[in-house]
Formats: sequence, structure tokens, C-alpha cells
Amino acid sequence: MTVKATTAAVGALVVSLAFAGSALAQDLGPNVKKLADGVYAFVGENFNSNAGIVLTQDGVVLIDSGHNPVESHKLMEVVKKLTPMPVRLLIDSEPHPDHTTGHFVFSPPAVIVAAAGAGDSMRAREREAPQRIQQMAASSQAMKTALEGYRFVPPHVEYLGRASLSVGERNFELYYLKGVHSEADTAIFLPKERVLFSASGIVNNQINILRPFVTIPDILAAAKLMKGLNPEHVVPGHGQPGTVKIFEDTEKYYALLVERVEKAVKEGKSLDDIKKEVKMPEYASWASQDRFPTNIEAAYKMVTGK
Ligand SMILES: [Zn+2]
Repeated sequence: MTVKATTAAVGALVVSLAFAGSALAQDLGPNVKKLADGVYAFVGENFNSNAGIVLTQDGVVLIDSGHNPVESHKLMEVVKKLTPMPVRLLIDSEPHPDHTTGHFVFSPPAVIVAAAGAGDSMRAREREAPQRIQQMAASSQAMKTALEGYRFVPPHVEYLGRASLSVGERNFELYYLKGVHSEADTAIFLPKERVLFSASGIVNNQINILRPFVTIPDILAAAKLMKGLNPEHVVPGHGQPGTVKIFEDTEKYYALLVERVEKAVKEGKSLDDIKKEVKMPEYASWASQDRFPTNIEAAYKMVTGK
């Protein structure tokens, strides 16, 4: 028995080394970017949401579960190419469906962690749109197949303010970001690897949607906090991964926007006039221009206090 067990153990070791060797040569697809040893970004096409894959000696940690269930299954395929280990933990950068609908693909066994309020936000959306999953399944055969076995999976654990998690040899610092995008946004920082998953309050080369509870001062505070972590790689919730330049671009964009809105307010213009007149041609190349009116509204609120 002892000999057999030893042989099995050696066999397992050889298999895992062979696996590591093949993973190096493996094509993970054009949308997977290696950021550090065992740390990858799974980048959504056309500003679809991004996800993160972090390998540890005790299993896999994911950041978000992909833009939709088709993407979630693709994400799972990438994980399987990288390691035979299970997904232990899934950290939500936000509760919106384009980051969370695919949770059922990974959980169980994954334990899902999110900022306080994430579960309530997800449950409210399920109530508001009870036909959501059926409609999604009707969109294509691929989506219908990907949705097989769908269950609504809200977070198992919610943290307040800040949290530190350890899985295997890795540390994850979670920062709740107030008022930047959803009811429960989390930036996830790996301090040793200096990789930051910065959530969707600040996106790359894209105009963001600023909901009524989102404020520009909160976004700028989040940018400052995240820059202060001194990350080498920044993976926003949407858009290409980059560096702290993403935060600097955002700071410049809002500074210019607020300056123009403030000038118009001083000239006595109404919000409607400002919406018609204030333009940002310098950022014409950014995606999602249809969201610009929400940016004007937030700048107007900041300038006037109304
Ligand atoms: Zn969102």
C-alpha cells in the first residue's frame, strides 16, 4: 500500500509538472493577458466586462465571472487550461449582471465575496426583471446552452469598508469604493504582484455612465486611493488593462468637464442649455458617447450643489 501511494504521488507530481510545461506553451486566446506569474486578465471584447484569474497553490481565485454565461464558460475553459485546481474564491468588483450572471458556472465550489450591499442590489434587479434569464436564453442558441443549469447566486460573504483575504501564497486587499458606479464597488489589489483590478468606476478610453448616486468627487477620491497603491498593472472593469495612466486620464477628463460646466453655470445657463452646448471634442474617440449627458448632470450637481 505504501509503495503504491508513493508511486501515485510521484505520478501526480510528474503529471503536474507536465501540465505546467504544457500551460506555458498553450495558447490561452487573444483576450487573455498575463500580468504576473499566475495572474491573468480575461479581457472582454468591445468593452464587455473583464475578469481576473489568479492561480494559487491552494486553488484559483477569480475576479468577476465574465460578461455573460457564454463568456463565463470561456473563462472556465481558460482556467482549466491553466490548472486542474478548483476555483476557490470569486471576488465581485460589482453586482451588475455583466459581472455576476455567470456565478453559477463557478459556484459551488467557489465562495463569493463582495462589498456590503451587493446581494441586495442583485436581488432587487432579479425582482425588477424576472424574465431576464429567459430573454437572455432567447438571444442565441449559444446563450441558451450556456445558461443550462442557471441559478441565481448572490454573494456568500459581504465585507464592510475594507477586507484582506489570503488564499495559498497570495494576498488580496479589498477596498470598497463609495459612489463610483454601483451600490457595491470593490477594487482588488494584490500587493506583492502589484496588480490592481480597479472595478468599473473608472474605465479605459470610454465615457462612464454616472448614475444619480455617483459623484465626481467620489470618483476622483477613488482614483487617488488607487493611484496611491502604486500598482504596476491596472485592470479596469471594462476596457484594455493598462497602468495608473487610466486614472490620470480620468482626472484630466473630469477636470476639463467640470471647468466647462462651471463656466457655463457662471454665464447663467440652464442644465438643458449646458447639455446642448458643452462638448468634449478632445475625447471624441472614447467609446459610449451616449452616456455623456449623465456626465454633464454629475458635473452640474458638483458645481451647483443641486
Ligand atoms: Zn456595472
